[in-house]
Parts: sequence; structure tokens; C-alpha cells
Amino acid sequence: MSPRNYFSFTPLLPSPTCGTVEARSIVEPIRNIIKKKNGQIQFREAECVKIDATNKKVICHSNDDTVLGKTEIFLDYNYLVIATWAQVNTFNTSGVIGHCHFLKEVEDAQKIRRSVISCFEKADLPNNLVRITVVQFGDHILNMFGERVSTFAEHKFQRDGIKVKTECRVLGVSEKEIVVKVKSEGIVSSIPYGMVVWSAGTGTRHVIRNFMEQIGQSKRRFLATDEWLRVEGCDSVYALGDCATIHQRKVMEDISTIFSAADKDNSGTLTVKEFQDVIKDILVKYPQLELYLKNKHLRSAKDLLKDSQGNDMKEVAAQHGTYLARCFNHMEEYKTSPEGPLRFKESGRHQFRPFRYKHFGQFAPLGGEQTAAELPGDWVSMGHRSQWLWYSVYLSKQVTWHTRVLVVSDWTRRFIFGRDSSCI
Ligand SMILES: Cc1cc2nc3c(=O)[nH]c(=O)nc-3n(C[C@H](O)[C@H](O)[C@H](O)COP(=O)(O)OP(=O)(O)OC[C@H]3O[C@@H](n4cnc5c(N)ncnc54)[C@H](O)[C@@H]3O)c2cc1C
Repeated sequence: MSPRNYFSFTPLLPSPTCGTVEARSIVEPIRNIIKKKNGQIQFREAECVKIDATNKKVICHSNDDTVLGKTEIFLDYNYLVIATWAQVNTFNTSGVIGHCHFLKEVEDAQKIRRSVISCFEKADLPNNLVRITVVQFGDHILNMFGERVSTFAEHKFQRDGIKVKTECRVLGVSEKEIVVKVKSEGIVSSIPYGMVVWSAGTGTRHVIRNFMEQIGQSKRRFLATDEWLRVEGCDSVYALGDCATIHQRKVMEDISTIFSAADKDNSGTLTVKEFQDVIKDILVKYPQLELYLKNKHLRSAKDLLKDSQGNDMKEVAAQHGTYLARCFNHMEEYKTSPEGPLRFKESGRHQFRPFRYKHFGQFAPLGGEQTAAELPGDWVSMGHRSQWLWYSVYLSKQVTWHTRVLVVSDWTRRFIFGRDSSCI
């Protein structure tokens, strides 16, 4: 169920905004994907407006308006998987909704492209000029990357004539100006603009917020799941992608239960053998411990028992999906022979291994055929050579051969003929 009948490859969404790839090249119709499954999957083009977890129902609205309004659809479920993304966070800044562009959907990319072209055409008229400014609340841009990448990007933007204003807060956006305040000096000033793109993180969608209130998660920012992606406080509901976050278990909270499970002879102490018997299961269930051990940051037992950071990284959505599909496909098989770690609070083993995120690195395309790449093992590469790595990785990540071929032909067209600057 989705209000859109296609998947879009969001990492390439900035490309249609500047004419390097066409919008249609990064979308794949859902119907093309499900027809390969011989009717095992059904798709409905509708928007979920309410989840009724008590009665195991979802209430949806069709996209098309009829004379009587939108058609209401009620669907019963045995298992529900929520993957509705999040929504743009405006921090309630005035004027943002009415005057800014966002970049989340393909339509957004098309609007930005038209707006960019029209701004450049205006700038080409006498007495006009082009000025690009990046306003950032933090002290560096790209602050999810290491300092080397942020500094490289800032210097590159400076060379390209792009002004970067860090430690600067947007107070409001009016029809022609952005009002900003420099944090350190407290000075309020305004920047005239032709177009603004707002990109300031994500917040929770209304339908998810409503559901969170229903299941006692109203104080949380995102829908919390356990390590098996099951929504906490709710039966048979799973959540993945950007709308959810894994509530990482704290070893400290479970320590006495783990100890009792490990202390087989009830002696009140753990022998080396007893410890070795449980450590493998502990590492599967509390992945933060393995990281501590691997990085040799272990100074005391207390270090080992600290909580790890919540897993809220963006690229986990695809891994979440693959993990859940595998669990559903092996549901019956693992009921009789579970593959998961020991249950410390009850007897037996968990049916599945918990979800583990594998980090494959991250890229930041910076324009002018230059990219910054941060890969596992603290490997950082910046400039033209990483651009080729970026091309190959993003090509390999395309969902189907159909989009792969379209993307390559767009890149080739651009190399030969340049960007298409017609404002259609
Ligand atoms: C411009 C941009 C660039 C990005 N670049 C990268 C990158 O390089 N690497 C990376 O790892 N991540 C990147 N991301 C983040 C990445 O796109 C997201 O993390 C990922 O798409 C999240 O997947 P998801 O399944 O949660 O949501 P989505 O992929 O957005 O899918 C959500 C689906 O839910 C549907 N939906 C929404 N509301 C409802 C409803 N009420 N009822 C039913 N269906 C609904 C939508 O139509 C959509 O089909 C980027 C994001 C953007 C916007």
C-alpha cells in the first residue's frame, strides 16, 4: 500500500534537479516488480491514514477524489510492516512550508529543476547576478562526515564562489528574503533569494505519530522497535526505514538476568567455562559489546556495560527490508529450529538472529565531478577519483536493470551533449 505506484532511488534525486539524470530514469513502477512474483504480492495505490493495532486493521484513503470524497479502504492484517519514511522537519520555522522547496519526492526534484533554470535565465538579464549561499546551524557543513570531508567541502565551495554561513539559524522565510541570525554575534540579517531549498532533517508523519500515541510511544521521536524490528508495545507489527529506530538494549538493565542464566550451578560466581558458554549469545544480542572489544576500547568492565548509540542511520532501510524478508520467508522453518541467541529472561532461543547493520561507507557528491567518500576502515577519499567510485557504487545499487540502463544513458548523453537546460 502506497500513495505512489513506483519506487524512486532517492540517492540520485539531486541529479534530476540539475539535469544530469532524468526523473523517469530513477523510478521503477511497483507493478513491474510485483508481476515477477506471479500474483503472490498485491499492491493498492492508497494512503494509510490510521493504524488500528487493537483490531489489526489499517484504514486507507484512495488517491482519487470521487464526488463523495476519497474512497475509504479497510484492510485486515496478520502482520503489518510499516515503512512510510518520515517527513521534512521544518522546526516550525515560519514561511518554510509556503516558500521553500524540499527534496524528497521526484516531483520535488522536477520543481527544483524548473526553478533553478528560471533563476539562471533571470540572472542572465542585465543587472542580475547569481549568488549561492549555504546556511548551516552547526559549525561545519556535512557534519555527519569527519572533519577532513567537511573542511574539503567548505574549501571547494569557497573556490566555486558558494558562500557558506555556519553557526547561523534561519528565523523565517518570507516571499523574497530569508531572515537569519548568527549564533555567536546575535546579529539578525536577511538574505534576498530567488529560490530556497530546505534540508534540515526529518520528523514523524502524522499517521505514525497518531499510532505512537495509541501504543504508548508518544514521548519518542521515531517509532521504536526491538532488534527484530518488532514495534515495541504492539503485536505482529514491524517497522523499518526512516520512520523507525531500534531501541538498543542496555546490558546494564539485563545484567542480573544474564548472570543468572549463565550461572548454571547457582554458585553466585561465573567460571571461565560458564562465561564462554554465554559470551557468543551476549555478543549477538548486544552488538555494542563486540564493537568495544574489536576497537580495544575496553578499559574496565563498566566500559563494556555502557549503552551504544541508537541506530538511526539512513542507509539501513534497504538492509532492514532484506532482513525482514528473510525472517518472513523462514518463519515456519525457524519456529522448530530457532537460529537466534539464547533468551536470557525465558528459556530456549530466539527464533531469529537480531538485525545487525553493516556500514558500507558514505558519499557526498560535491559538484564539478568531485565527490567525498568515507569508507569502512577510516578510508577517506576526496576529489575526482572518488567520483568514479560514486558512479560505480550508485549504478550497482539501482533496483533493476531497467533504471541502470536509463541512468547510464543519461550520464553518457550528458558527457557528450552537456546538460539539458530547457525549462519544460
Ligand atoms: C535527496 C536524498 C538523498 C539521499 N541520499 C541517500 C544516500 O546517498 N544514501 C542513503 O543511504 N540514503 C540516502 N537518502 C535517504 C534514503 O532515501 C532513505 O533513508 C530511505 O529512502 C528510507 O527508506 P524508507 O523505506 O523509510 O522510505 P521511502 O524510501 O521514502 O519509502 C516510503 C514509502 O512509503 C510510502 N508512504 C508514505 N506515506 C504513506 C502512507 N501514509 N501510507 C502508505 N504509504 C506511504 C511512500 O509513497 C514511499 O513509497 C537520501 C534521501 C534523500 C531525500
